[in-house]
Amino acid sequence: MRAVAHLMVNDAFTRLEGLRDGPVWQSMPEEMRGAFSGPVPTDPSPLEAVYTDVATKLYPHAMGNLHPRFWAWYMGSGCLTGALADFLAAIDGSNLGGGNTGANLVDRQVTDWLRQMMGFPEGASGTLVSGGSMANVIGLTTARNVMAGIDLHQESLADAPQRLRFYSSDQVHNCHLKAMNLLGLGGRSLLRVATDHTFRMDVDALRAAIAADRAAGLRPACVIATAGTTNTGAIDPLPEIADLCRDEGLWLHIDGCIGALFAIAPENRHLVAGIERADSLALDLHKGLHAPFDVGCALVRDRRQHRMTFAETAEYLQVARRGLAAAEFLHDYSLETTRGFRALKVWMMLRHHGVDSFGRILDRNIAQARHLTQLIEADPLLALMAPTASTVVCFRHDPGGMDEARLKAHNTEIMLRLQESGVAVISETTIRGRLALRVAICNHRTRDDDLDLLIREVRQIGENPTASPTLRNRSSLRHSRTPTKPHRGKAQVSKGG
Ligand SMILES: *Cc1c(COP(=O)(O)O)cnc(C)c1O
Repeated sequence: MRAVAHLMVNDAFTRLEGLRDGPVWQSMPEEMRGAFSGPVPTDPSPLEAVYTDVATKLYPHAMGNLHPRFWAWYMGSGCLTGALADFLAAIDGSNLGGGNTGANLVDRQVTDWLRQMMGFPEGASGTLVSGGSMANVIGLTTARNVMAGIDLHQESLADAPQRLRFYSSDQVHNCHLKAMNLLGLGGRSLLRVATDHTFRMDVDALRAAIAADRAAGLRPACVIATAGTTNTGAIDPLPEIADLCRDEGLWLHIDGCIGALFAIAPENRHLVAGIERADSLALDLHKGLHAPFDVGCALVRDRRQHRMTFAETAEYLQVARRGLAAAEFLHDYSLETTRGFRALKVWMMLRHHGVDSFGRILDRNIAQARHLTQLIEADPLLALMAPTASTVVCFRHDPGGMDEARLKAHNTEIMLRLQESGVAVISETTIRGRLALRVAICNHRTRDDDLDLLIREVRQIGENPTASPTLRNRSSLRHSRTPTKPHRGKAQVSKGG
């Protein structure tokens, strides 16, 4: 196992070094899919053979988000330090439900570092969760319990004196709808306020909605502001919304899955000024911090409210004065009891690279989004579909004379051909009823010329949608240095795609 483990690590380096020269993504051929169906193995196999399947069949058909030309949806592009840390965390083996362990201290230090990075006051609490969706659930549950006016550990929402109302913009991420369902509030309790032409929440409309709800006997409880919308990267006017929440006595939850980390980017932190005023904040470390999946964080301004929302007594989980149970139970801040040691990857990444490096990457990605926007604006056959507010660029190829249905089919075909050729991976969305190609630049490997290539390819496919795109320009994008020789050894199986 020691030899195979060394091989895995060596292969990992080789694979990462060769990323740029391979396709971003490729679909698994039919004949290979058989390796991933069939009965449960009853007998052992050599680890080498099992790993060979991983290296030769699985790896070449990965998501592609580690590649410099992956810009679909919104996800980080990985970090080797974080990947090594995930292995070390598993070897440490601690359960982060609690316990008097080193892991517990690392977890608490990481949430405290994140608190500092976000400008939250000392004493604010945090909990590491699987991602942004769960971080939002933690924040919204706290908001619900604090604002309900009754003790939801004992009573149900049906016993609340008034029906609670939450507010967001019409650009809110759908995880909040799942949360409304989960929290027993129901989708109709979330009022989606109109956005202006830059896709930011219209604060006057929000104010009017709150007044109308009060008049109708509802209880305005919480505003969900978004710092970096999924569709267009827009950032709601956080200071105005924070003022309104203060004046009206509402909880302010900020979904910062995309934008919260802009707070560490020296040239762009002003974009999210006011984020430190949230009562709860969701941030996603497997996006802008590039931690390997999965890890997100919920911060809550008032530690007592956070704990009161989630802590339940259990005779079998009592803090002791000595021994293994002589530490705060971290499950008191979360829905989960057992949690993995996610904290270690964030802790090691921040120590190894320093927070400023991550801030500079975010600045570069925002600059690259602006660069791409300029390329689009300079091209008469390309149309920008939304103002570029941060790291998301929405546009489409429009040769003229096509109605909306044809433009949709035409651009979807461009997106699919880019994906299938392995040149680049982008996604699509619909903005106010119109289809847009969407480029989300959350990638520390992307160079400006990768985006130049994207535009050339879109133009080329757009002009001749039946010719198949190629990787002809790829050699010009290769690293100039010679690739490292793969590790030689008996167990050598693959460069792994
Ligand atoms: C990505 C995203 C989420 C969901 O986060 P996951 O980590 O995918 O669970 C929520 N809100 C916004 C604005 C997002 O961009």
